[in-house]
Amino acid sequence: MSSGSNPMQVRADRPEIRLRRSANDRRLRFGFARTARAPYSCASTLRVTILGSGTAVPVAGRFPSGVLVQGGGQTVLVDLGPGVLRRLAETGVGLEAVDAVLLTHFHTDHCADLAALLFGLRNPRYAGRPPLRLIGAAGLRELLGHLTAAWPWLQPRDYTLSIEEIAPGPLRLGTLRVAAIPIRHTAQSLGYRITAAGGAVAAFSGDADECDELVELARDADLFVCDCAFPNEHRTEGHLTPALAGAAAARAEVKTLCLTHFYPECDGYDLTAQARACFGGEIVEAADLLTFDLRRE
Ligand SMILES: [Zn+2]
Ligand SMILES: [Zn+2]
Repeated sequence: MSSGSNPMQVRADRPEIRLRRSANDRRLRFGFARTARAPYSCASTLRVTILGSGTAVPVAGRFPSGVLVQGGGQTVLVDLGPGVLRRLAETGVGLEAVDAVLLTHFHTDHCADLAALLFGLRNPRYAGRPPLRLIGAAGLRELLGHLTAAWPWLQPRDYTLSIEEIAPGPLRLGTLRVAAIPIRHTAQSLGYRITAAGGAVAAFSGDADECDELVELARDADLFVCDCAFPNEHRTEGHLTPALAGAAAARAEVKTLCLTHFYPECDGYDLTAQARACFGGEIVEAADLLTFDLRRE
């Protein structure tokens, strides 16, 4: 990651930037904000906040995987890596507001905070909160069974927990339309494509290797948050490089590509330039608490 393209630095000087882009009669508005503003209740738009842009290897300043999606009357977490709940607190969104968690897969850097979430929700302050939906591929129920066997105090108390093992296909979260699409990484891996009532689309690859399903996932998306675990020089099985992420974004004709999930091997490389060789749209390198507001007009 080159220092010149680090959004953290951009944000430090200019706490909020709003740009307008026009393409195919669709306009995308997005901004960078140090802290997401809560509550967020616009039904027709999507707010996407990166909670964790890091990985299983701890580094300062980047928590493991997690994204906050707000829209359609819903507050949704896509993945829940260790520590991500702390980042959520930094956005001003409390646990009482979370309606659903979508898990892309069961690697620990994407779901370890499930235990912290379930234990936290037993605090009396959350008694009577709305039902919580935990959504993921087959295996989710077994994972929760093991966690609860180890820690009986994860059982829900004074709220309803719904565990939903899903196959690839559509589902609804409030007025949000979600498509779960199988992605090459683990046998259970799913990417999620989320469409707001107003038409804005955000797509999340989770961890991913090269596959045609990435293009299906991100087709015409306003924002594609995509695995970019290693630079082109360190191509690693099961993950994407900037060039591969850029190629998928180009095929899908997305508006903005947000590269994320940076292993330390990325340090010192200009990931944006590597992706730029394959993709002509907007490219942003993720940073924790980076926020995008997506709206189609
Ligand atoms: Zn993984
Ligand atoms: Zn990962």
